[in-house]
Amino acid sequence: MEKQAILVYLETVDGQIVKVSLEALNAACKLAAQTGKTVTAVLVGDGSAADSAAAYGAAQVVHVAAGEYQAETYTEILTALCQRCDASCLLLGSTRDGKELAARVAMRIGAGCITDAMGLTDEGAWVRSVYGGSLQETVAAVGKAVVTVRSGTFGKPEEEVGRTAPVTEETVETAELRAVIKEAVKELSESVNLEDAEVIVAGGRGMGSAENFQLVHQLAELLGGVVGASRPAIEDGWVPRNHQVGQSGKIVAPKLYIACGISGAMQHVSGMSGSGYIVAINKDEDAPIFDVADVGIVGNVMDILPLMIEEIKARRS
Ligand SMILES: Cc1cc2nc3c(=O)[nH]c(=O)nc-3n(C[C@H](O)[C@H](O)[C@H](O)COP(=O)(O)OP(=O)(O)OC[C@H]3O[C@@H](n4cnc5c(N)ncnc54)[C@H](O)[C@@H]3O)c2cc1C
Repeated sequence: MEKQAILVYLETVDGQIVKVSLEALNAACKLAAQTGKTVTAVLVGDGSAADSAAAYGAAQVVHVAAGEYQAETYTEILTALCQRCDASCLLLGSTRDGKELAARVAMRIGAGCITDAMGLTDEGAWVRSVYGGSLQETVAAVGKAVVTVRSGTFGKPEEEVGRTAPVTEETVETAELRAVIKEAVKELSESVNLEDAEVIVAGGRGMGSAENFQLVHQLAELLGGVVGASRPAIEDGWVPRNHQVGQSGKIVAPKLYIACGISGAMQHVSGMSGSGYIVAINKDEDAPIFDVADVGIVGNVMDILPLMIEEIKARRS
C-alpha cells in the first residue's frame, strides 16, 4: 500500500458498491487532485467490486477477507490498514455503519473525525451542515482525518469501463470478539433503500391515518419509487422506522421527491434538500416545505393524490 494514501472504505450490497460510497470515492479523487496523494479503495468481506472501484477512479484496491459486517472486526481492519500506510485521510459514506466505523477508527489512529461532509474547499477543508441544516461550517482536521460523506452531495464519479488498478490482498489479525451477534431480528417489513432511490414519495402527519397513507404507497409504486416518511408518520405507526427521512432518519437525494402533507420542519428538510426536483403538496400555503419545493401544490392530499394517481394510470393506458 502506498504511504500517506487516501483510503476509501467501500460498502457493498450484493457485490455492488453503494451510491454513497461512490460519492466518498469521488470526494477522495477530488482530495487526491489537490494533494497529489493516491486513492486506495478498501473492500472488506466481499471483494467482487474491485473492478468497479478501479473503473470509478481508485488507483489501488485493497481487499481484506472477512465475514459479515461486525463493528469491532471492521474497526480493527480499517485501523490496521490506516496504520500500515500511515493514511492521510480515510473516507466513508455517511451510512449507519460508516458513521459507526468513522468514530471508532478516528479515535484509534488519533485522527480528527468529520461527519456528514457535503463539500471540499480548494484549501482541502470540509463543508458540513450543523444545527439540523440551518448553518454550514467549514472544518479541517489538524493532521490525519476520518471523513464521512453525506449522500447526494459529491455525486458519483465518472465511470471509465476497462480502467484497471492493482488489487492487493491484505490480511489483518483480529482479536477475539467481545460481542457476538446471536440473532439478527429483522423488521417484518421489506428492506428499503432510500439512499439509492431515484424517486421518493414521502408522507407526513398531514396524511391523517395509516389507511390514507396507502395513497403514498400507490403513487410511489406507480412511479417506480420508494416510500419515505416524516417522523410523526413513523411514530404513529403508519410506516416502519426504516422509511424515516431527516436528521434522525435517512439523508436522501433522489431525482424526484414528492412530499405529501409534510410541513417542512428543518429536521425533515435537512434530510431531503439535496433532492433533484421537489414537489410538495400541502393545504397550508405558508408551509415551509414550499420554500424548498420546485413545484408547490396547495390543496388537500386526499384530493390531489387520487387525481395524480388516476392521471398517471390514464396516461399509461
Ligand atoms: C432532534 C430531532 C430530530 C428530528 N428528526 C426528524 C427526522 O429525522 N425526520 C422528520 O421528519 N422529523 C424529525 N423531527 C421532527 C420535526 O421537528 C417535525 O416535528 C416533523 O418533521 C414534522 O412532521 P410533519 O411535517 O409530518 O408534521 P407536521 O409538522 O404536523 O405537519 C403536517 C403538515 O401537513 C399539512 N396537512 C395537514 N393535513 C393536510 C391535508 N389533508 N392535505 C395536505 N396537507 C395537510 C399541514 O398543513 C402541515 O404542514 C425531529 C425533531 C427533533 C427535535
